Amino acid sequence: MNRIKGGCLCGSVRYESSQAPLMNAICHCVHCQKQSGSAFSMNVVVPAAGFEVAGATLATFDDVGASGLAVKRHFCSACGSPLYTELEANRGVVAVKAGTLDDTSWLKPQMHIWRSSAQEWVSIDDGAVCFERNPDA
Ligand SMILES: [Zn+2]
Ligand SMILES: [Zn+2]
Repeated sequence: MNRIKGGCLCGSVRYESSQAPLMNAICHCVHCQKQSGSAFSMNVVVPAAGFEVAGATLATFDDVGASGLAVKRHFCSACGSPLYTELEANRGVVAVKAGTLDDTSWLKPQMHIWRSSAQEWVSIDDGAVCFERNPDA
């Protein structure tokens, strides 16, 4: 997978990365549960340098991570789709919400983070790479 591109449900916001994804992770943190309205979010991490986004309805919720550092959660204000996140704790990369990719066929989760707050009914494969909180915490 060399490039990723995608957009929100209504199509007003579109994004594209000229760089290959660095990694991906399923995040079970409570904020991702709230924002996604689901049990977890699947994130594809790409370099911020090659990431471009366009759309007048792009909006930002200024969140704060467990680290106390800023987390900018970008979404479409017209349809509500969460699109990508920028983390002050991890500058230089962007975490794209994988459900908004045009092509999700290549996705295979590499790790689970924030397992400590995973819903009990979510089953995680034996042997999967897991972190109770953030990988660097
Ligand atoms: Zn939209
Ligand atoms: Zn999360």
